Amino acid sequence: MYKYLPDYIAEGIFDIDYKKLYELGIRGLCFDIDNTLIEMYNSNIHDKALSLIEKLKAEGFTLCISSNASKKRTAFIAGYFGVEYIYRAFKPSKRGFDKVLMLLNLPASECAMIGDQLFTDIKGGKKAGFLTVMTKRINDSESLYVRFKRIFEKMILKKYKKGLKKI
Ligand SMILES: [Mg+2]
Repeated sequence: MYKYLPDYIAEGIFDIDYKKLYELGIRGLCFDIDNTLIEMYNSNIHDKALSLIEKLKAEGFTLCISSNASKKRTAFIAGYFGVEYIYRAFKPSKRGFDKVLMLLNLPASECAMIGDQLFTDIKGGKKAGFLTVMTKRINDSESLYVRFKRIFEKMILKKYKKGLKKI
């Protein structure tokens, strides 16, 4: 049995039932950037994501971004969305998630990690005690390394398909 399956899956960040997350006691949301919040190698679709982030803030969620990307890119995106951030988070390492908890100032049980990669966002989130929501990647323009990992990710998700719940 693979231990780090997502608690929930969703098509994308715009399809998640955030009200249900709130009802489940979640108050802090941590988003991955690339291929979750925005397209990889593209900065043109921020408006819709920005509206969502503003809406979530208004609904009472505390938000942050955690990315394995550089400080420059992460800080730029976080600045655009007006949220705190962790760069070079080395997901799935626990250290990055501990920093997220400090930023959100909430216990892990009240935090959700939302991301598109099983072996970084979801595995790290699960290990740290977060609720996890795995989104489908926005597009498949990805590095060779990520594409390689996707092969195993796909195998695992296919194997446990029946146990994956949508939110
Ligand atoms: Mg990603």
